[in-house]
Amino acid sequence: MARLYLDANATEPMRPEAITAMAETMALPGNPSSVHAEGRAARRILEEAREAIAARFGARGRDLVFTSGGTEANALAIRGLAAGRRVLVGATEHPAVLAAAGPDAGTIPVLADGTLDLAALEAALRAGGPALVAVMVANNETGALHPVEKITEICQAHGALLHLDAVQVPGRLPFMLGPADSMALSAHKLGGPKGVGALLLRPGLDPAPILTGGGQEAGRRGGTEALPAIAGFAAATACPQPEGLAGLRDAIEAGIKTLAPEVIIAGRDAPRLPNTTSLILPGVAAETQVIALDLAGVAVSAGAACSSGKVRQSHVLAAMGYGADAACAIRVSLPWNASADTPARFLQAWGAMRDKLCRLGR
Ligand code: PLP
Repeated sequence: MARLYLDANATEPMRPEAITAMAETMALPGNPSSVHAEGRAARRILEEAREAIAARFGARGRDLVFTSGGTEANALAIRGLAAGRRVLVGATEHPAVLAAAGPDAGTIPVLADGTLDLAALEAALRAGGPALVAVMVANNETGALHPVEKITEICQAHGALLHLDAVQVPGRLPFMLGPADSMALSAHKLGGPKGVGALLLRPGLDPAPILTGGGQEAGRRGGTEALPAIAGFAAATACPQPEGLAGLRDAIEAGIKTLAPEVIIAGRDAPRLPNTTSLILPGVAAETQVIALDLAGVAVSAGAACSSGKVRQSHVLAAMGYGADAACAIRVSLPWNASADTPARFLQAWGAMRDKLCRLGR
């Protein structure tokens, strides 16, 4: 039986268009910074990719900085724009944002559905001087969507800069930079290769670089650009949004509730990404569930599983108030190529896993 890959929020399967674009670009010798014909050919590919990706998200090519991924894009925005400002982050941010913001950053709590507490944001901004607010658009564990329009209004009213971690959104929902000041993207979350991403900036905004060197990316990020990966990133960005993911996700949730009414679906009441569900099976450690499903041929993750194979208790679910249940959640995230039989195959494996673990007394 073929394996069932349901861990798209960790990494989407590559789009064939991205693989083709990468293979073609890898065959070219030139460095985009070289002045000869080979270099100019590489530069053309780089700048076309820059324009295409930026346009897709409502930005100008000259305001896009290629990075090594979402982690670096978030770090460049937060470290590069924080001078003279307090940094405020949401309680459910990705570790990439939390680490870049550092231990002195203020934390804005979330409501029980995982969306940002707007009253707390307003109060935090009212309390102090100039601020940089860094929040995710969609949560990687629950798919919960923060109310970005309202967050933007509040930040603008208080003169705060707003950085959006939009890493989980493209390829699942249409989303643009809009009036935000900066936005982080990652290619491998939208069907492109791992190890490349971008920071989009509002015109005129110039973050202090983290990586200095050869002056690439208009001095904003030193280092030869990862041209094949960038070509793959552009090709994946141009792919159409997958359709029908919300219907498949809803079928999984309805099936789970029939099999086991005690299951809690974290953030179910919030506006969410169409491909994500967070399933809490009270009393059964997430790690046990993930391993049992893996042995049954199904790949899911526990909490934010993008750190070196570690399964940890979810700080996201803890911030939503789930207490001990926060250690009992698996994340099912449907990839762009999920098919009509995905819910039935998952439910079959999940039901068998639950029966077995309950028989064993967990
Ligand atoms: N931000 C969010 C919300 C993520 O889910 C991730 C990866 O899981 C990142 C940032 C980091 O992106 P990358 O893996 O490209 O460094």
